[in-house]
Amino acid sequence: MIELHELTKRYGDTLAVDRLSFQVPRGQVTGFLGPNGAGKSTTMRMILGLDRPTAGRVTLDGRHYGELNEPLRYIGALLEAKAVHPGRTAYDHLLWLAQSNRLPRTRVDEVLEAVGLTSVARKRARGFSLGMGQRLGIASALLGDPEILMFDEPVNGLDPEGILWIRNLMKGLAAAGRTVFVSSHLMSEMALTAEHLVVIGRGRLLADLSMAEFIKQNSRSAVRIRTPQPEQLLDALRTAGLRADPGPDGTYEVEDGDLASLGDLAAEHRITLHELSPQQASLEEAFMQMTADSVQYHAGDGRPAVAAAPEPAWGSSWQARGTTNGKQKEN
Ligand code: ADP
Ligand code: MG
Repeated sequence: MIELHELTKRYGDTLAVDRLSFQVPRGQVTGFLGPNGAGKSTTMRMILGLDRPTAGRVTLDGRHYGELNEPLRYIGALLEAKAVHPGRTAYDHLLWLAQSNRLPRTRVDEVLEAVGLTSVARKRARGFSLGMGQRLGIASALLGDPEILMFDEPVNGLDPEGILWIRNLMKGLAAAGRTVFVSSHLMSEMALTAEHLVVIGRGRLLADLSMAEFIKQNSRSAVRIRTPQPEQLLDALRTAGLRADPGPDGTYEVEDGDLASLGDLAAEHRITLHELSPQQASLEEAFMQMTADSVQYHAGDGRPAVAAAPEPAWGSSWQARGTTNGKQKEN
């Protein structure tokens, strides 16, 4: 288990990580989500003892990274900045790591096999593709057969096959009881990988909950109706006390509507339907909703409710807006 307590990191004027407290339990994949610049990599570097917290602390099964004798046996990590000497072969890189952590040479062959690099083990790293480099990084992380595994944006730049492979690897590790902590700035990626979600923005905790809960709390559902008799439909809905909002492409959407009752209603009024379909908000939309909450949250505190920065991505505007709803820590 990874435990963060009021973990804080300041770089000059930048508060990169702002009193973060959460736990990453074993046996499941915990996703660490936030837009670029949210503080994910900084947090992960502090977990690994590569960066010194300005305040607060982080422990691995109760101990600081610095207290671990052979750290690779406790925690393995794939970080963003990869440190592989380009002139070294994959095998030599892993052997050097294994020897400095008093791990047996046989482990090198095992992890090369596990990540599918056996056939290129004697090739120099400079000739490696992004995907091969990523696999080598993962081989390093697995070397000490550690209890805790941490991956910083592991699927960035990978092809679909590589992405699928990493996802399955992480799920397999979690299923085997390991602690798996993986970061991403993509909601869609988290949805496919993580069971639990820790969301941060501008260094602060925004949410810490299961993926299922996140979707439930943040998404909406509606029923989309398409009909050649819109007037009659709207009348019928009004009579039944229901409201319809115009949807895309000439459709209507009934918020929290029930498929069966809406179908029955249409039949009663002899209204022809060309479509009657449930609409689930995507996780991306759920995320946007979280952003919308944060706008409201800040409406009265003098800060601009809308991001001044011109960047189009949801991430930037979210960042500019800062914190959000229920689960976040009060100041
Ligand atoms: P993420 O990984 O979520 O994209 P980072 O942890 O890399 O975010 O960065 C968080 C913030 O801290 C950013 O504003 C970034 O510019 C700043 N930052 C990160 N590392 C350093 C550093 N070594 N020196 C100064 N600022 C840094
Ligand atoms: Mg990062």
